[in-house]
Amino acid sequence: MSTIFSKIIRKEIPAKIVYEDNDVLAFEDIEPQAPVHILVIPKKEIPTLNDLTETDAELMGKLFLAAQKIAKEQGFAEKGYRTVFNCNEDGGQTVNHIHLHLLAGRSLTWPPG
Ligand code: 5GP
Repeated sequence: MSTIFSKIIRKEIPAKIVYEDNDVLAFEDIEPQAPVHILVIPKKEIPTLNDLTETDAELMGKLFLAAQKIAKEQGFAEKGYRTVFNCNEDGGQTVNHIHLHLLAGRSLTWPPG
């Protein structure tokens, strides 16, 4: 089922887009949890990590490469950042279109709450 992220991909609703290619879109989170909070998503609709198949392996790699590129371009690669995929209820997933959270700009605690 389509989510709000499909509308962002189709540019039907606005988002602060920071990276885009044929397979991947990255935009600023509407409710940032850190000074930098970017969502890196595949344009393909995949609801959760549980729905990944072997055919998505390259695509998932592209999400991380996009995150790395953004981190370098925005200048926080060396200082550091966190990448997170939430999955389903206990993971805290609220939008069922797989997304990589890219968080940076402050010291992030571990373990997460
Ligand atoms: P999840 O909780 O599913 O791991 O993360 C979903 C993220 O999407 C949340 O951090 C939330 O703030 C963000 N989000 C939800 N709706 C929108 C939206 O319409 N635009 C943007 N830019 N972010 C959104």
